[in-house]
Amino acid sequence: MQVNTSKRTELIDITEMVASEVKNAGIDNGICIIRTAHTTTSIVINENETGLVSDIIGMLERFVPSHAGYNHDRIDNNADSHLRSIILGSSEIVPVKNSRLSLGTWQSIFLAEFDGPRKRNVDVIIIPGGMFG
Ligand code: ZN
Repeated sequence: MQVNTSKRTELIDITEMVASEVKNAGIDNGICIIRTAHTTTSIVINENETGLVSDIIGMLERFVPSHAGYNHDRIDNNADSHLRSIILGSSEIVPVKNSRLSLGTWQSIFLAEFDGPRKRNVDVIIIPGGMFG
């Protein structure tokens, strides 16, 4: 599925988009892998609360300040984007039960953009099976 991002750095809640892919897949039970093939985005699960979302971005900016003398900035000027992506990771796995994502009450799935705005692809891979629920 495609996600259009609108800022250089932002977290976009893609839970409903993923849930509709799962519903349309026609698989009752199994696992859902949500992954990004880009090197400057991440997939992460956490709470969609405005203050927390800005805290996550603030944490990453403190861990990985922009343009802090990185080698990759000599050719691409976005080393901070890659390094922030490494911290959050490129995929998450969520159990599927009765064609629904089995998420915790406060869990949402985010695409984290670190070098936007761009059109981004997120792969939703659903593997059937009964032992994950
Ligand atoms: Zn780069």
